[in-house]
Amino acid sequence: PDVPVGTILAGAARRWGDRTAFHYAGQDLSYTELAAQAARFAHGLRARGVGHGDVVALHLPNILQFPIAYYGTLLAGATFSPCNPLLPPDDLAFQLDDCGAVAVVTLDFVAAPLAQVLERTKVRTVIVAPLLGGPVDLAGLCEGAFAECGVDFAAVGEGQPDDFPQVDIDPGVDLAHIAYTGGTTGRSKGVMITHRKVVTNTLHYACWNGGSVPARDEEGGLVLDQVGSEEEYPVRLGTGTIVNVAPWFHAMGTIGYLNVPVLQGATVVAHPRLDVPAFLADMEKFRATTLGGAPALFSALMADPSFESRDLSAVRVISSGAAPLAVEMLGRLQDKFPDAVVVEAYGLSEVTMGATANPSHRSGERKLGTVGVPVFDTQVKVVPADAERVDDATPGLPAGQEGEVCIKGPQVMVGYLNRPEETAAVLGEDGWLRTGDIGIIDEDGYLSIVDRKKDMLIYNGYNVYPRELEEILFTHPAVTGAAVVGRPDPQAGELPTAFVVSSGGVTEDELMAYVNEKVVPYKKLRGVVFVDEIPVSAAGKVLKRELRDRL
Ligand code: ATP
Repeated sequence: PDVPVGTILAGAARRWGDRTAFHYAGQDLSYTELAAQAARFAHGLRARGVGHGDVVALHLPNILQFPIAYYGTLLAGATFSPCNPLLPPDDLAFQLDDCGAVAVVTLDFVAAPLAQVLERTKVRTVIVAPLLGGPVDLAGLCEGAFAECGVDFAAVGEGQPDDFPQVDIDPGVDLAHIAYTGGTTGRSKGVMITHRKVVTNTLHYACWNGGSVPARDEEGGLVLDQVGSEEEYPVRLGTGTIVNVAPWFHAMGTIGYLNVPVLQGATVVAHPRLDVPAFLADMEKFRATTLGGAPALFSALMADPSFESRDLSAVRVISSGAAPLAVEMLGRLQDKFPDAVVVEAYGLSEVTMGATANPSHRSGERKLGTVGVPVFDTQVKVVPADAERVDDATPGLPAGQEGEVCIKGPQVMVGYLNRPEETAAVLGEDGWLRTGDIGIIDEDGYLSIVDRKKDMLIYNGYNVYPRELEEILFTHPAVTGAAVVGRPDPQAGELPTAFVVSSGGVTEDELMAYVNEKVVPYKKLRGVVFVDEIPVSAAGKVLKRELRDRL
C-alpha cells in the first residue's frame, strides 16, 4: 500500500492497545503508550525545527527509546538513519556527515565518540537517553560537549500532544531510511529507502508465514486480518513473543524485529547485546514463540551449558537471515525445536531487508539449504557474474547454473546517497539490482546462495567458494564454528585456510583430511587455524576481512 510507515503504528495502537509492544529491563511499553510517546517525540522534534526532509540519526542500541524515536522521527516527516553505537569516531563522523543528519538520538553510555566528532557534522541537536534512568546530566556528560546542543530524551516530548502530527508524506518519494551497509566487504554506503518500500517489505515478511492479509482500519491505519484456522498457522496475530537481540540499527532488525512485530501485535523483549544465559532465561520466562536472528546467535545459544535445562517449548517459528545457515546447523535446530518451523530468508540492505524466504506454511514446500522463493511482486534471476549489464532483456541462467543473484521488486533501494557511480554499478535502468552474491536457482524457482562474489578465493586460477568448505567443516562433531578465507600465496594466489572453533580432540591434520577427502583437489584446505571465537559483526556476519588481516 501507498502509505507512510506511521500507519503501521496507528493501526497497531488501535488494535493492540494495552498489549505490551516492547519490554526492556523490567519496563513495559504498551502499543497505546508507544504511539503516544512517538507522537509527542515527533511534535517535540518539529518544535525544535526538525521536520520534513531532515535526517535524524539514531545512535542507540536496542532499548525502549529506540522504537519511540524511530516512529517519532518518521511521524515528524524526517528520515531515520541508524548508526551502530559502537562505531569508532571516524566512521561515525563519516556517516553523520554523509547523510547530513541535523539531530542525533544517543544514549549517555555510548555518547563519547559522538562528542568527539560533533564539530565535524551538521548536527545541531543531540537528544540523550539515560541508561540508568533520568534525568541526564547534560552539562557534565562528555566534558560538557552537549551543554549547548543537548536535550534530555524525556524533555523532547514534554507537554506535546499525543496525536500524530499532520505531515504531508509522499510514501513513494519521501525517504524513511538512509541505512548504511554493513561494511562487511568495503566502505559503508547510505542506502535510500522510501516509506513505501519499508511498508511493502514489512508486509512481505509479516504475511509470509500465512494466516493473515493486509487491510486498513476505519481510520486508515494499516493492520493485518487473520485468515485460516488456528491449527493451520502456528502463531496467531497478537499472541507472539520474541526475545530479540538483532540490532534495530541494521535492516534485519528494523524491518524484521521492529516493524513486522508491531504490525503483528507481538511483544518484543529487547536485548541490547548478546548475554546468552540472560537471553535463554528471557526466552523461558516470556514463553518466546519466535526465535529470530543470524545463525551466529543460534550456535551461541545451543553451545551454552544452560540450553538443555531451559523450557523453550513455546517456540513455533525460527527465522534465520543475514548470513548463511549451514545445513548441519539447520538439522541441529530442528532436533532441538521439533515443534518449530525454520524459515530462512535472504536479503541485503539494498532491498530494504529481504527478497526471498522459504515457505513456512502448508501451502508451499520448504527446501532445506535454500533461501526459498521470491516474496510477492519480486523477481530473482541469476546471470553470468561477468555480465556487463543486467536489464529486463538479460536472460536468467538455466536452472542449476551458478551466477550472480539479481533482484527486481518494490523493495529495491532508490540508490546510494551521494554515490551515483556506485549506484549505477549495481542498479540497472530497468530496476535490476546486482547483489554481489553468487547463487543457483533450481527448477522450482528456489534460490541457494553459494557465496559472496567478494569472498570467493582463487586458487591456481580455480574459483573456490569458502561456504562449501565451511558446510563440510560444520559436519565434523568437534567443530562449533568455522570460517574459510584465503591466505595470500605468491605461487597459488590464495590458499584456502580455515579458522575453526573446536570443542577439542581434533588436530589440524585430521580436520584437513576430513574435509579434503570430500572435495576436488583444487578446493582442498591448505591450513587450519584454531581460535577461541570467530569474529562477527553486530548483525551476526562473519568478519572475513578481519580474518584475512590476521593471515
Ligand atoms: P557491505 O555490503 O558493506 O559489505 P554487508 O554485505 O554486510 O555490507 P548487508 O546488507 O548487511 O551488508 O548484508 C547482506 C549480505 O548478507 C548479502 O549480500 C548476503 O551475502 C548475506 N546474506 C544475507 N542473508 C543471507 C542468507 N540467508 N544466506 C546467505 N547469505 C546471506
